[in-house]
Amino acid sequence: MLLAIVVAAIGGWFSIMCLSVFAHRSIAHRALTLHPIPAHVMRFWLWFSTGTPTRRWVAVHRKHHVYTDSEGDPHSPLLFGLHRIFFLGYWYYRREAMKPETIEKYGANCPNDWIERNVYEKHDNLGLVLMLLLDIAVFGVGPGLVAYAVQIIWVSLWAAGFINGIGHAVGYRNWTTTDTSRNIMPIAIICSGEELHNNHHRWPRSAKFSMKWFEFDTGWALIRSLAAVGLASDIYVKNKRWKAIDADGADDAEPVDPTATP
Ligand SMILES: [Zn+2]
Ligand SMILES: [Zn+2]
Repeated sequence: MLLAIVVAAIGGWFSIMCLSVFAHRSIAHRALTLHPIPAHVMRFWLWFSTGTPTRRWVAVHRKHHVYTDSEGDPHSPLLFGLHRIFFLGYWYYRREAMKPETIEKYGANCPNDWIERNVYEKHDNLGLVLMLLLDIAVFGVGPGLVAYAVQIIWVSLWAAGFINGIGHAVGYRNWTTTDTSRNIMPIAIICSGEELHNNHHRWPRSAKFSMKWFEFDTGWALIRSLAAVGLASDIYVKNKRWKAIDADGADDAEPVDPTATP
């Protein structure tokens, strides 16, 4: 039983890493380009372990950046109450993700190949069924069901409730922004860097969420590792292209409207 819970917790942690590095930083904000192999591994794992097609999550998240903490924000604790977003954050996300107009307006430049259209989007809940069957096959019925529940609760509570709720209510701010975003904790190991939410709202194009010397972003550690072996490129830090600043110090990177749908 203990092994099943530990494995499920690690699986849930990796789901949030995939959400952060692939769907959030790479697709929603174009902060980096992932090589097709890690990109598809993460895309598959998000579908398999959370039932989340990339376009839906990206569209809802982009809308959050456009309307942060004002009318139209899909999951603002300021509008709906912290306890509701913390415990029911997934359902607020889901409610918005099911609106065709949101997908239409904010879902540009997301994966749209055959497998996305015919498997991940068309059969969005199939991944969760397969994960349940795998959990039962590997751990047995009882521990398998517990492992499944741990993974589902882990991701929905941490990714949806913790970041979208606490990240706009409790913590410290490095930057003055017009929204309520907060850095929940400086050592971002639970949610793969998403804990540094105020840094992210100030610099949405940045692939690196840690900004102060005492902050550590596990998602950025993975991105640097992938870049070191040629699996990540076109990386931005704040609004500048990483390692692409001219000898004269000029930055050639185009400033990008972080909320624009490309
Ligand atoms: Zn936010
Ligand atoms: Zn974002």
